Amino acid sequence: MRLYALGALKRYGQIFRVDTVRMTIFQPRLESVTSETLPREALEDWGERCKATARIAYAGEGEFTPGDWCRFCRGKGACRAYAGKVLAVGRLKSPPDGMTPEELSQALTEGAALSQWYDGVKEYALSLTLAGTEIPGWKAVEGRSVRKFKDPAKALDALRAAGYEEALLYDRKPKTLAQLESLTGKKAFEAILGPLVIRPKGAPALVPASDKREPYATNDPQQAFTPITD
Ligand code: SF4
Repeated sequence: MRLYALGALKRYGQIFRVDTVRMTIFQPRLESVTSETLPREALEDWGERCKATARIAYAGEGEFTPGDWCRFCRGKGACRAYAGKVLAVGRLKSPPDGMTPEELSQALTEGAALSQWYDGVKEYALSLTLAGTEIPGWKAVEGRSVRKFKDPAKALDALRAAGYEEALLYDRKPKTLAQLESLTGKKAFEAILGPLVIRPKGAPALVPASDKREPYATNDPQQAFTPITD
């Protein structure tokens, strides 16, 4: 977010007087809005510090500091430091009667990193294998493939010619809510279909406590009792 803001500052900072920069990331699918406000100087100082660190990394110097940010790193599959951090999850010691809530919390947090790290390792190893490096015990194969028609129109013509009725060859399906909204526009959609739209309760999902969504209402009386209707 700060890097984008620095880019905007570089482009427009000469034209407009900017003393304070307010940055916002809006992720509609996650219903997440994150904002930060910084004085221009503080943002530019941060950018200079980033440049210095980037120069060290680019020269292949400095220390690896694995952390939560590694999931965005393109080198995560090859990074020894990240592998060392992630594999520490295997050192959990569990009492004989199962994991404590604290251990579960640790396992959930570190297991998420483990899963992301494993995907990165697989991707990196596949690229090496395809380039000719042999990785003991592993090989690249062709993945699952789904059959399809070379020419769908010709396939349907062939069925018609074979005597199959047109109505049997097609499904008539309504457009999705999102497609209808883009057909009508938001305003007309709200006017015509607004009262007909419901948002069913989503399935419960376990997320870190820092997530902005409200905790799942497990004692919701509406869930416990079915409304009585005549
Ligand atoms: S995966 Fe390695 S190189 Fe990438 S950010 Fe993490 S520590 Fe740095």
